Amino acid sequence: MPIDVLDLEGLRTRYGSAGGGDMFDPHFRDVARQVFRDSDGRKWPFADPATLLDAPFIANGLKPEVLEALDVALIGVPMDLGVTNRNGARFGPRAVRAIDRVGPYEHVLRLAPMGSLAVADVGDVPMRSRFDLAECHADIEACYRMVSKTRAVPLSVGGDHSITGSILKALGAEQPVGVIQIDAHCDTAGPYEGSKFHHGGPFREAVLAGALDPRRTVQIGIRGGADYLWEFSYASGMTVIHAEELTEQGIPAVIAKAREIVGGGPTYITFDVDSLDPAFAPGTGTPEVGGLLPREALQLLRGFAGLDIIGADVVEVAPQYDATSNTAQIAAQMLFELLCLVALKNGEKPQ
Ligand code: MN
Ligand code: MN
Repeated sequence: MPIDVLDLEGLRTRYGSAGGGDMFDPHFRDVARQVFRDSDGRKWPFADPATLLDAPFIANGLKPEVLEALDVALIGVPMDLGVTNRNGARFGPRAVRAIDRVGPYEHVLRLAPMGSLAVADVGDVPMRSRFDLAECHADIEACYRMVSKTRAVPLSVGGDHSITGSILKALGAEQPVGVIQIDAHCDTAGPYEGSKFHHGGPFREAVLAGALDPRRTVQIGIRGGADYLWEFSYASGMTVIHAEELTEQGIPAVIAKAREIVGGGPTYITFDVDSLDPAFAPGTGTPEVGGLLPREALQLLRGFAGLDIIGADVVEVAPQYDATSNTAQIAAQMLFELLCLVALKNGEKPQ
């Protein structure tokens, strides 16, 4: 901290008539300028209609001419027809929008991403039928194919994890992408009961479609009674790091390994809130005991600064199982961290 310690006289001279937005540390001053703009007040976090990360809302914003002007598009995907157990992740985008006071500043990465990026909440993916899982997936894939042809990096809020399969099929249509998946479940199971679109299998589907490079895929936080369903992860060359290995190896070692696996190529980060222990994030459809602490998840995501992130999502927020709203609070924070990673990719340096 380049600020010197002052005696009372010095403090009175400097701060006696300074306002809440007057900072003397050059870095903090830059942040404050972005946030306070030209007044001595900041936007009230509880005012106006709620949007993802309190970004400006663009109604019907999922079109090329809007996305071309954005660095980041925040997109809701309120679809949960793919769940194998408790439903409700269709309410995830609304629950995350309702969270206030996330950001503007990331104190470890030392940046305020909204200041350097053109970001907007462009609304939710239009889907034709709320009754038809396969058709919803066709609509999601078509939407992200359009998004992928613009300069906007999509940061999405689900919805159940099946949505990520169709997002990857779109973003990896021309070149397979690498994935960092933070999840309790590998989600590489096969089709069953007549559907290949359930939320237990999107990463197998994306590999088979040629959109996901399994050798550049790492799955972190895996655990639970469905582990026997996921041999496809090993057969395809994905790296699986179970929850207990995370604590045995330590977060810095896992970060280093994940960075080595995805390398410098295009990388998608997908954050399933059930990766977290249900003590912190009970608002999800398939909770698994023995998960990550929110602090560990933050440390992991911060460790991915500098990667070539072409998109990311936060999925499986089912708010009705969490009377505290903490699950949505954590999801919004993770979304903010992902936004910071995109800001760093775009050339902003951690200060
Ligand atoms: Mn998942
Ligand atoms: Mn999961």
